[in-house]
Amino acid sequence: MLLATGQVLPISSVHRLARTSTLVRIVMNAEGQVLDMGRKVRLATPAQRRAVFARYATCWIDGCPLPATMCQIDHADNWSTGGLTDLKLLGPACQFHNRDRYQHPERYTRRKEGPDRWAFTYHRLGTARRLRE
Ligand SMILES: [Zn+2]
Repeated sequence: MLLATGQVLPISSVHRLARTSTLVRIVMNAEGQVLDMGRKVRLATPAQRRAVFARYATCWIDGCPLPATMCQIDHADNWSTGGLTDLKLLGPACQFHNRDRYQHPERYTRRKEGPDRWAFTYHRLGTARRLRE
């Protein structure tokens, strides 16, 4: 492990730190801006917003045409239930879908579209249960 001071930390110290403190993984973009905020903040940072817009063209609900740049930044895992403000778990949702998915999570099915990309299928009332059978 390389410290900010340039010193190399022996592995035994890394293990001791891991046992006695909370190590936080930090993901940064090329400009050194932090892209994974974990539980530190609920709202996406400007750097995260830019990174989300580079990944998504529109709202991440299937068939919704609202451009990502007009969307709110949504948490794939709801913040209120422990979701992280990490780039790989953020995406654009229009105001309607952001609120509707929060209020009615059972109406949406999430799927992975790539290593850092998600999409959601919206089900009309009652159809989500049928699809799962
Ligand atoms: Zn939408």
